[in-house]
Amino acid sequence: MQAQPQRVSGRAVGAVMFIAALAVTIAWIVIRVFFTVQPAEGEPSGATMTASSNAVGSVAERAAPRAITKPFDHVIVLSIDGLRADAVEDAVRRGRPGFAALLEGPHTLEARTDPDITVTLPNHTGMVTGRLFKGPQGHNWLPNDLPPTIVEGGTLHAAHGSYVPSMWDVAHDHGLLTGMIASKEKFILYDNTYREEQGAPDAVAPDHGRAKLDVVELAFRGEGVERKAEAALDRAAADGRRSLWFLHFADTDFTGHGKTWDMTPGSDYLACVDRMDALVDRLVGHVGSNPSLKGRTAIIMTADHGGGAPPLSHTVHDSPLNFRIPFVVWTGDGAAGDLYALSPTRSRPSASERMTATGGAPIRNADAGNCALWLLGLPSIPTSTVGAEQDLLAGWSRTDR
Ligand SMILES: [Zn+2]
Repeated sequence: MQAQPQRVSGRAVGAVMFIAALAVTIAWIVIRVFFTVQPAEGEPSGATMTASSNAVGSVAERAAPRAITKPFDHVIVLSIDGLRADAVEDAVRRGRPGFAALLEGPHTLEARTDPDITVTLPNHTGMVTGRLFKGPQGHNWLPNDLPPTIVEGGTLHAAHGSYVPSMWDVAHDHGLLTGMIASKEKFILYDNTYREEQGAPDAVAPDHGRAKLDVVELAFRGEGVERKAEAALDRAAADGRRSLWFLHFADTDFTGHGKTWDMTPGSDYLACVDRMDALVDRLVGHVGSNPSLKGRTAIIMTADHGGGAPPLSHTVHDSPLNFRIPFVVWTGDGAAGDLYALSPTRSRPSASERMTATGGAPIRNADAGNCALWLLGLPSIPTSTVGAEQDLLAGWSRTDR
């Protein structure tokens, strides 16, 4: 009696193994096809730009990338570390002014982090390079601590095995002033990656040198990031320079790690969210009160990850608590809009959907770099894959106030 079920189970195991092998083969083919259709490493995505800008007349299924009618002179990419989308919603509901002001622009509270990792450096690397973490075209930067020194391999290029261009490369090569003001020491990774010796030769004449970041400031726990940013913006405007900035507030992440991402009224986390709201309010007010910035400055606000899974961290990459983040494009014209409705090539996930790398194209924090460049009237980051066609805001046009 025992031999019979054993034989059956042996056959079943064989069948399962065959199906598993078949599934792996199919998955491998799908992955190969997926990566083959993407632009090859080293091929500038500008080629796609030029080709499709000729095709404006024909209404393609996929919205053709097109230039912004009136580029902004200054763009700020603001990342608020550990800021959950529902915390933004909650602050607005409680009448806080900062996020409410930002939401007077195209936005979504259903944006996504990198599909495979929800920690700080890999996601910020996505924002500035327009790449996801994994895969042959991924940026592949994993460490989330203070990076090794340059000679020990502490650059994005060393981790990836070839040069990884950033939004700063494009802006710098086109003659804009570039800067990073961040509030965690480990962001020195980007300083190390884009110094004079590590940066690529300037791709656009005239030659502005190889260092891609003109201004680098690392402030402790977000202290003074907004003041430094305001001063830097004012200087750029006074010098008649156009500019691209990356700003980073870290406080919400520190509070989450210390006290959990507690969304109950009066929690430490929500009090910290309110402090970030006040900084945002101050920044928006500053732009509005400086005639040389007003109407010429856009702010992209997003987050590297949410938090709360596990309660004192954000490492569970398939938890909605961690992967749901805001993505806001503040243009200063007061016209709010749903960023998904304005970006028809993107698929809006349900609140519980993570969206894997091959599972449709949501709006991700890694869209920030290419979106910023588009707002400045510049081409996308060469070899980038997220938003490389600058299709975000394809259904939006800039109107004069
Ligand atoms: Zn953290």
